[in-house]
Amino acid sequence: HNHIDHADLGKVAAAIDAGDTHAHIPDYEIFENYRDDGGYRELEALRNGSKTPDDLQDEVLESGLRGMGGAGFPSGKKWSFVRMNKGPRYLAVNGDEGEPGTFKDRYFLEREPHVFLEGMLIAAWAVEAEKCFIYMRDEYPAVLELLRVEIAKLEAAGIVDAGYIDLRRGAGAYICGEESAMIESIEGKRGMPRHRPPFVASVGIFDQPTLVHNVETLYWICKIARHGGDIFGAHGVNGRKGMRSYSVSGRVRHPGVKIAPAGVTIRELIDDYCGGMADGHEFKAYQPGGPSSGLLPASMDTIPLDFDTLQEYGTFIGSAAVVVLSDQDSARAAALNMLRFFEDESCGQCTPCRVGCEKAVKLMQADHWDQGLLEELSTAMVDASICGLGQAAPNPIRLVMKHFPDEI
Ligand code: SF4
Repeated sequence: HNHIDHADLGKVAAAIDAGDTHAHIPDYEIFENYRDDGGYRELEALRNGSKTPDDLQDEVLESGLRGMGGAGFPSGKKWSFVRMNKGPRYLAVNGDEGEPGTFKDRYFLEREPHVFLEGMLIAAWAVEAEKCFIYMRDEYPAVLELLRVEIAKLEAAGIVDAGYIDLRRGAGAYICGEESAMIESIEGKRGMPRHRPPFVASVGIFDQPTLVHNVETLYWICKIARHGGDIFGAHGVNGRKGMRSYSVSGRVRHPGVKIAPAGVTIRELIDDYCGGMADGHEFKAYQPGGPSSGLLPASMDTIPLDFDTLQEYGTFIGSAAVVVLSDQDSARAAALNMLRFFEDESCGQCTPCRVGCEKAVKLMQADHWDQGLLEELSTAMVDASICGLGQAAPNPIRLVMKHFPDEI
């Protein structure tokens, strides 16, 4: 239904012609269709003064929308912090989506890229951004191509000036998904996290106030601006508010992106959204939100999966990358795999993380884990690492020591 001109999608189309069986052009909603469906009218109305930035900010706050990249900071509040600082201001979209097991941003980008783009332009309007940078994961070539094609259409239609949206390619570093490292990378430097404060809302790209949003957050901002806060905020179960996009993989019958009310439990996700466990597999453990969140045992299956609720269990929901393990998997091996990933992806800037991850991997390869030493190492990493990578890397170690002592 979208009449996509395949010739426009140059590299991806060429890859398909060359027989690359992994390349595909997603059936996304193109500009013409989106606009015919009322798209970009809200942006135009806002630009013409239908609401003030304060009105929209209140609406976003009221909806309960929080940053979907993993940190969960209230989006409306973020706008107010950026607006507090004198311009010029910038907007940066974090489309790096490098958290293993997370693929929800891709899901939105490959289906409704203009909902995301309009959301971005609405947020840019709200904070009066001089320019928008989209930092996009290079491992999503089709997304990069379709964004290039669709952004050119926005320029041709006069919705944005040429060059207002600057599409940047990431280069495969997990750490560039950390907002200050992403900003360093956008500035052309090596992607290494900055010390905070100052926060990027006041000192961001080229030291200017910068609003950083995740792709999915902007998707919801557009929906809220167009249809009202209830489209997001009226949902939620088990005492939580809003919608969440869980990227579910592992031993379930139907893995994939599951858009569910915030606060569903792992049981509900598996049974009601994923068709149950895969044949012959018995639920044993789950990663609630990316490798930094570690593993919880199947017995803890009634916790609402959302921001804040997992904290008292020593973990968090992050970007909601849920991986389900079964009786055929080893929690110990999974934790080691996670630490190997952190060892590879540590930017190396600070010793507790650079050396700590390497040490942890060595200690976890022993037949019997030296739990005292691992705990001591974990404390040093949590206390002294500069950014979230090093601070959260010990979570898998601690949770496996606590919940799967028989395996170590
Ligand atoms: Fe780099 Fe790790 Fe330090 Fe973060 S904690 S700044 S990833 S070395």
